[in-house]
Amino acid sequence: MAVREILLLGNPELWKPSKRVTETRSVETREIIGDLASTLSGFRDRNGFGRAIAAPQIGVHRRIIFCNMHDGSFGPAPLINPVIVRSGVEMMELWDDCFSFPDLMVRVRRHAEIDVAYLDESGAEKTITARGDLSELLQHEIDHLDGILATDRAIDGRSFAIRSVIKSS
Ligand SMILES: [Zn+2]
Repeated sequence: MAVREILLLGNPELWKPSKRVTETRSVETREIIGDLASTLSGFRDRNGFGRAIAAPQIGVHRRIIFCNMHDGSFGPAPLINPVIVRSGVEMMELWDDCFSFPDLMVRVRRHAEIDVAYLDESGAEKTITARGDLSELLQHEIDHLDGILATDRAIDGRSFAIRSVIKSS
């Protein structure tokens, strides 16, 4: 398990879609999961925030997310090949952030509730209903797997702010 470099906004690798994982229990998959876990906790130690990371953010184009919610609502655990199987009609607006642009906040609109089907690290099929924070987080991370960044989801041209400006206002 290694703390990997996190790719930053502007790196074209972040806009490439990731491939489905076919062997959930292979050495390669286990290594990716281990590296994501280490990189997430490393980022959290340095920056004091961070709930999840997607494999393309460490330059690995596989459909794997690692999530560790502060409130204990999910993880620490990976989601392999996650798919949104239901999106609630109610929308929420929020200032989103990302390890790939740690000082930038982006105003986005997300579904308040979604159901996500995925495989856990043993390869078992799971489905969770995510609401609020977990819902917007999983939409953000699954977007990463499709090569979509929060900046691509900005509501309009003024939906950008420097973190310290938002936090102090
Ligand atoms: Zn992100």
